[in-house]
Amino acid sequence: MDFIELEAIEGLRWSWNSWPTSKSEVSALVIPLSVLYTPLLQYNDIPLLQYDPLICNRCGAILNPFARVDYPSRLWMCPFCYQKNPFPRAYTGIEENNIPAELFPTYTTVEYHQGRKTLNTSTVVNSNPNWGRTSSFQSVVSSPSSSLVATFSSSSLSGVDSKGNGPGFVFVVDTCSPEDELQALKNELLLVIAQLPENALVGLVTFDSMVAVHDLGFMECSRVVLLHGDRELSPGQVQEFLGISRPKHQLLGRTSANQKQGFLLPVSECEFNITTAIEEIHSSLQTVGGHRPQRSTGAAISTSVGLLEGCLANTGSRIMVFTSGPTTLGPGIVVDSDLSKYIRTHRDLINGQAPHYDKSCNFYKQLAGRLSDASIVLDLFGCSLDQVGASELKVAIESSGGFLMLGESFESDQFKKCLRHIFKRDTDGHLNMYFDATIEIVTTRDVKICGALGPCVSLKKKSSSVSENEIGQGGTCWWKLCTLTNKTCIALLFELGNEQNIQPGSAFFVQFITRYRYGNGGIRQRVTTAARRWVGSRSPEIASGFDQEAAASVMARLAIHRAERCYARDVIRWIDNMLIKFASKFGDYVQEDPSSFRLSSNFSLYPQFMYYLRRSQFIDVFNSSPDETAFFRLMLNQEGVVGSLIMIQPTLFQYSFDGPPIPVLLDISSISPDVILLFDSYFHVVIHYGSRIAQWRKLGYDKDPNHETFRKLLEAPEMDAEQLVADRVPLPKLVRCDQHSSQARFLLAKLNPSVTQKSTHTEGSDIIFTDDINKRDVSNSNWAEKCAGAFGRLDHGCKIDQLPLKWAISKNLRKVGLEGDYQAVTKYLTGCQVVTGWKIRNTLDEVISLASALDNIVYVYVNRREPTF
Ligand SMILES: [Zn+2]
Repeated sequence: MDFIELEAIEGLRWSWNSWPTSKSEVSALVIPLSVLYTPLLQYNDIPLLQYDPLICNRCGAILNPFARVDYPSRLWMCPFCYQKNPFPRAYTGIEENNIPAELFPTYTTVEYHQGRKTLNTSTVVNSNPNWGRTSSFQSVVSSPSSSLVATFSSSSLSGVDSKGNGPGFVFVVDTCSPEDELQALKNELLLVIAQLPENALVGLVTFDSMVAVHDLGFMECSRVVLLHGDRELSPGQVQEFLGISRPKHQLLGRTSANQKQGFLLPVSECEFNITTAIEEIHSSLQTVGGHRPQRSTGAAISTSVGLLEGCLANTGSRIMVFTSGPTTLGPGIVVDSDLSKYIRTHRDLINGQAPHYDKSCNFYKQLAGRLSDASIVLDLFGCSLDQVGASELKVAIESSGGFLMLGESFESDQFKKCLRHIFKRDTDGHLNMYFDATIEIVTTRDVKICGALGPCVSLKKKSSSVSENEIGQGGTCWWKLCTLTNKTCIALLFELGNEQNIQPGSAFFVQFITRYRYGNGGIRQRVTTAARRWVGSRSPEIASGFDQEAAASVMARLAIHRAERCYARDVIRWIDNMLIKFASKFGDYVQEDPSSFRLSSNFSLYPQFMYYLRRSQFIDVFNSSPDETAFFRLMLNQEGVVGSLIMIQPTLFQYSFDGPPIPVLLDISSISPDVILLFDSYFHVVIHYGSRIAQWRKLGYDKDPNHETFRKLLEAPEMDAEQLVADRVPLPKLVRCDQHSSQARFLLAKLNPSVTQKSTHTEGSDIIFTDDINKRDVSNSNWAEKCAGAFGRLDHGCKIDQLPLKWAISKNLRKVGLEGDYQAVTKYLTGCQVVTGWKIRNTLDEVISLASALDNIVYVYVNRREPTF
C-alpha cells in the first residue's frame, strides 16, 4: 500500500489502514487507531462544486461516492446510518450515466464553494443543463484559477464587498524595545499596512507599563486611550473604557452597530492615521539600575481581545504581538522587574520555584477560550536575547492556531520573512488566510472518536460517534480552528464501539468535513470521505496496512501531550514501555536469544523514530529554555507526517568527490575530514565541512579554475540547503561550520555517540560524552556514560573558592566542562580512585554529590586536542 499516494488523494495518513474487529485486538496493536488529517492539503485537481452539499437527514453526513443511489425512486442511502434520503428537485435529472460530481467514484474529496449569499441549489443546477453527464462532468468541476474567479472575484477582488469588512488585524507593539529594534519593526509594519486589502480592519495597541489603544478615526490630532497595565480588566470594562459596546445581534462580517468607534477601522478609511501612529511610536525604554523594563504584555493582549470582541463578530481576526522581553507587570507576568530575580528555567518549573507560572498560564488559558469563541488568532513575535514568556502564552497561541516566532532581532531576515509570508496573497489577490474554521467528523456506527491533538479546540458537541474515553481535545465530533493553513495537520484518535456488530471483511467509513472562511469572506466546505476495511484477527492485512511514519508522528504528539503534564523521565519510560510492547508483539525472536530479534521492513523504522524521539528536544528539555520548548512542541503539534519525522529524526547527507550526495547514519562516525555533511533537523540546517575540505576552502582552491570539481562540491550542499529552508516558516537557522569549530555543536549534539570514551579512540575523531543511551551499545551504558566527564575550561567568571558546578547550575549554564585527563575523570567517577589534582578532585566530588541533579543536564561535546564549548 502506498501511503503517500493515498495521502495525496485524501489528505489522510492512518497509523493502521485495516482495523481489527475486537477491542482486545486493538489494544494489542499498542499504537492507537489514529488518522493524521491535513484539512486543506493542496491538491492539483480538487473538484470545486458551486452549490450546497446534500446532507443526510439523520446523521448529518454529506452525500459522497460511497452512498448507494436508487435511481428510479430518486433516493440515496447514507453509508453511515443507512437512512434513505430523497434527492431534492434540483437533482431530477439524476441517472446512472448522469451523476453529480460528488458521487463520482474517484472524488472522495470535494470542495463546496458558497458565496457570501448562499447559492440556491435549484437555481444553480437548473442553470447548468449539462450538469453531471459523466462524459462531461468536468464542466461543473472547475480548477481554482478558472471559473471560480469569475464567480467570486468580481465583488471581492476590489475589496469592496457591499457591506462586509475583511478580517481584522490588531498590531500590539512593545515600546520597551530599543529604538533601533523598534525602527526595524515599524518599517515592516508600514509595509504590511500598505499591502493590506482595503477592506481589512486595522487597530493599533502599544504598551509599556501602560496600555495605549490608538484612536484611528480621530482627525484633529492623535488620540489614545490609556489603561493601567497592572490591572486585569473584564471584557465589559475594556469596552466601557473604550466607549464601544458589543452588538446585541451579531451580524457576520459587520462592525458593531456603534459605528463611532475609531479603534478598529477599514484600512481604506484610516491608512493615513495608522501610518502616522506607527511612525510616531518611540522607545519608552528607560534603564533603571537593577531592573527590567516594565512590560504589561498580558494586559495589552486582553485589552485587544476585548476590543475585537466589541467590534467584530466571528469573521476572523488576528492579534499580532511584537515584543522584546518578558512581561514584568500585571496579568500574565513572567518575572519580576527586579533583576535579582531570575527568569524561570525548566528546573524551576519542576521544583515549583516559578512563583508566577501557574497563575499566568491560567490567565492565558482563560483568554484562549475567549479567542476561540470570537475566532481571534493570537500571534507572538518575540525578538529578544531573553525569554519573552512564550511558555506561558503557548496555550492561547496554539489553540487559536497562531504563529509563534522566537528570534533575536526585528532586523533579522527570519522575522521579515515570517511576517511577509503571513501576509502573502494567493493568485486571486486574496490574503492567504483561512479563518473561523470547524472540523466535523461523521463515522460508521462502531467507530468512536476519542479526541484530537493539534491547534484546535473541542466544541463539546456530542454525537453517537463520540467516545467516553477522551484524549486531547475530546468529548466532541466538532472542533474549532480560529485559523489554519494548507499545512495544518490534526491528529485524530479513534477506538471501537460495539464490537459485536462488526463483520470482518466489511468496510467502514469516516467523513471529515472542514468548513472555513476563505480570503474573500465566503464560506467553503471541504469534504473527504474515506473507506477502510475491518479485518479478522491475525489477518496479514493488519501488518501490511501499518504506516510506521504516521504511527511515529502520532506517538510523538501523544508523548508531548503527556510531557506537558508529567516529568520527562515518566514520558521516556512510557515511550520505552510502548516500544517494548510493540517489539514483542510484532518482532520475531527466539526466547532468551536477543540476537535473533527481527522486525519486518514494514515495522523496522519505527523503533528508530522512538529512539530519536526520547532523546529529542521535545522530551529532553534540559538543553532548552521553557520558551524554546514551547516553540518546538507547538511546531510539532501542527506539522504533517514528513515534517514531523524530520523534527524527530533529522536527516544527514554526505557530499564527497566520490559521487552524488548519499544519506548517511546520524552518527559521529559519519564525520570525516574530506566530506561535507548537510544536516536537517527542521529547525536547524547545518552545512559541516570536514577539516581537510575547510582547509582547502581557506586556501581558496575553489577559486582556482583548475579545481572546478572542488567548487562544485562546495556549491552542491549550499543549493540543497536553500531548497530545504525555502518553504519553512519560521525560517530554520542555517549554520555553516568547520569540523572542530564551536559552531559544530549544532551537529554534534544530534549525532549518535558511537565513539565514546569507552571505544577505541582514533586520532582526529570527535568524541561525545553523554548521559544518553547509545543505541548500538545499550547494555554497556554505565555510570561513566551517564556522568559529566568532559574537558574544557570553566572560564565564565567563576571564583576559585566557589563550587563550580553549583555556580554553573545557579547561572543556568547547561554545558559544563571539566578539565583533566579523561581516563582519570571516568575512573574517579566510577569509583576507582585515582590521583588527580585538588581542583579537579573537588569538582568531581561535587559531580558525585550532585549526580541526581545532573542526570539530565549534561550533554557535552568533547574534543581532546581542541576543547570546544
Ligand atoms: Zn446518515
